[in-house]
Amino acid sequence: MALSGRVALVTGGSRGIGRAVSLKLAGEGAYTIVNYMNCREAARETLRLIRERGGDGEVAPFDVADAAAAAEEMGRIIKEKGRLDILVNNAGISRDGLIVRMKEQDWDRTIDTNLKGAFNCCRVAARQMIRQRWGRIVNVASVVAEAGNPGQVNYCASKAGVIGLTKALARELASRNIRVNAVSPGLIETDMTASLEERKEEIRDSIPLLRLGNPDDVAGAVLFLVSPESDYITGQVIRVDGGLYM
Ligand code: NAP
Repeated sequence: MALSGRVALVTGGSRGIGRAVSLKLAGEGAYTIVNYMNCREAARETLRLIRERGGDGEVAPFDVADAAAAAEEMGRIIKEKGRLDILVNNAGISRDGLIVRMKEQDWDRTIDTNLKGAFNCCRVAARQMIRQRWGRIVNVASVVAEAGNPGQVNYCASKAGVIGLTKALARELASRNIRVNAVSPGLIETDMTASLEERKEEIRDSIPLLRLGNPDDVAGAVLFLVSPESDYITGQVIRVDGGLYM
């Protein structure tokens, strides 16, 4: 198995894309830590599925937007496991609204979770990965970072920030054998997109591959980016969007 002996942390691993990523990494032998914020039962279900398939891991609750909480919990993990090899910054939220009606807290919370959350976790992980001279970081962005989307100035800005962070960090850490990349999903069927149910037909028609994505589609790209098959790839953004944005 490609990831045997590796320790992986997936933020927002309780549901949706994060759950699929957690299962994929654990399925390749990584000891997989499933982070979540509120949905304890869902995180435990991810862990149950990991174990049912012969893998192992644990759950780790913390708010990625809270730098102190992230440092404390990630510090515990590093102390107990002795290493941290893979970080997938997947935790994310959307608080949509047209700019004229958008509340300041909707801007702040989205930036704090999606962008500062990735920074908080990267900062702790980078220290350990530099010591190890080995690390793989994958940040989950979004195609709307590049395409834009009305009603999502906060979300699009946060994800564009994630792409900038990815490229800068890739340059900072490359010489230490730490690769940093991003995946940019298009429309993936999860709780986050459940409200689009009524517009599904119309959305499907706008996607060249004529279907919405599923969490496994994204997890496959993440696995590629942490596996030896991508050893010469860093600072890149792989779109997983059925051709929606090109
Ligand atoms: P989802 O089903 O709504 O799941 C969100 C996950 O993030 C949950 O595990 C949630 O934990 C966790 N989370 C949210 N805020 C958190 C915080 N402050 N600290 C720790 N965990 C937190 O979302 P999804 O669709 O799987 O999205 C996953 C990622 O893909 C996000 O970054 C999203 O922006 C991105 N993305 C999604 C799509 C799409 O079409 N679905 C498209 C492009 C990009 P709890 O379960 O505890 O709430």
